[in-house]
Amino acid sequence: MTVRLTVHRSTQEIGGNCIEVVATDGHRLLLDIGRPLDAAREATDLLPATLDLGGARAVILISHPHQDHYGLLQAAPADWPVHCGAATEKLIKLTAAIIGEPITRGFNTWTSGRPFAVGPFTVTPFLTDHSAFDAYMLLIDVEGRRILYSGDFRMHGRKASLVTRFMAAPPPAIDVLLLEGTNLGADKPWMSEGELEAEFRRLFADTHGRVFVAWSAQNVDRTVTLYRACLESGRTLVVDLYTAEVMALLGDHANLPRPGWKQIKVVITSTFADLYRAKGRDAFVARMAEHGIAAHHLNETPSRWVVMTRKSLIRDYAHQNVTPGPDDAWSWSMWRGYLDGDDGQAAKAWFDVNGARACHLHTSGHASPDDLRKFAQAMRAGCVVPIHGAAWDTHAERFAAIRRLRDGEPLVI
Ligand SMILES: [Zn+2]
Ligand SMILES: [Zn+2]
Repeated sequence: MTVRLTVHRSTQEIGGNCIEVVATDGHRLLLDIGRPLDAAREATDLLPATLDLGGARAVILISHPHQDHYGLLQAAPADWPVHCGAATEKLIKLTAAIIGEPITRGFNTWTSGRPFAVGPFTVTPFLTDHSAFDAYMLLIDVEGRRILYSGDFRMHGRKASLVTRFMAAPPPAIDVLLLEGTNLGADKPWMSEGELEAEFRRLFADTHGRVFVAWSAQNVDRTVTLYRACLESGRTLVVDLYTAEVMALLGDHANLPRPGWKQIKVVITSTFADLYRAKGRDAFVARMAEHGIAAHHLNETPSRWVVMTRKSLIRDYAHQNVTPGPDDAWSWSMWRGYLDGDDGQAAKAWFDVNGARACHLHTSGHASPDDLRKFAQAMRAGCVVPIHGAAWDTHAERFAAIRRLRDGEPLVI
C-alpha cells in the first residue's frame, strides 16, 4: 500500500496552496487549488507543473474562500468535482460573478464534523477560526493513514474556541500534519478581535469627525468588530455594495449584521453601481437603495459615520465632495504590507493631503508563532510538513518532527 502526498505549491511561500494525496488505487484528492499571491493580475498558466492534469480525475477540496486557496479552480479540468463549505461556495461564486467570469460548475457542500467518503478517502471537515468566513481544517483518512490539513487558522478571532476545543480533544494517531506558518518570524500585534473592538471604540470616541476604515469585505470578523464598536459609540457603519451583498448572503448562515439592521447604511456610489448593473445585478442595487445613502450625506453630522474606504471608492467620494479633513481619522485595518502597495499609497495620499489623523488598527487572520507551536504540540502528529510560510527554514525551532519538503517532492506515508 502506498499513499503519496505531494505539496505541488506552498512549501516555500505564503499561499498558492495545491496539495495532492494519491491512494494506492490511484484515487486522487486535491487540498486547495490556490493562486500564488505574487502572481500578476493578468497571469495565466499558473497551475504547478508537477500537477498531472491527465489520468484519473482529482477531487478538489477547498478549505476556505481566499484566492490563495481556490483562485486556480477555473484552470482545473471541468470534470474534477469540487467540495467545500456551503457559505464558501456562495462567496466564491459571488466574487467570480462580480470581478471575473461566473463559475457555472456544481459544488458539493459539506457539514462541519460530519465525515464523508470520496473513493477510498474519508474526509472530515472542521470549522475553524480564520479571517475568511467558513474556513475549515480537513482530516483525511485513507488506508489506515491519517493526514490533518490545517488550512489557514488563528486562535485570536471570534471563533477561537473552535480551535481550543479541537486542541483539547485532537484526532488520535495523526501521521502527517500539514501546517500553515504565515506568521513565523513576524513581529506584529496579536490582539484578539475583542481587544480590537475596544481600540476602535476608543478611536471613535476620540474623533470629532468621520472615521474612514479600509478593510476587506470578506473579513467578516472585522465587519462584526466595526459594527459592534459602532453600536457602542452611537455611530453608523457605512459599507459599499459588495460588502452589503456579502453580509446579506451570509445572513443565511449566521446571525451577522446585514443591511436593514440599525446603524448600517449602504453607500451607493456611481462606479460600484455601474459595475453592478453591468453585471446584471440591477435588482440588488434597487433593493439596497432602501438601506442606502448617497455619499454627499457623509458631510452632514460627520461624527455619526464610520465609512468604508478603498481605492475605487475614493474617486466617487471625492466626486461628491467628501474629502477627509483634520477632524477626521482613518484606519488601515488590513495587513500592513498592503499599505505599501498602489491601493494603500493612494488611500494614504488622499488622507494625508488634508491632514486626517492616521490610526491603523488591525490583527492578523493567522495564528501567532506561539499559537502555531502550541497547536502542533497538541496534535502530536508523526511529522509536521511545513506549508504556507516563507520563514520555515529559519524559524522552525521548537517544532517537533519537521519533515521539510520542496514543491512537487512526493512523500510516501
Ligand atoms: Zn492562505
Ligand atoms: Zn486564508
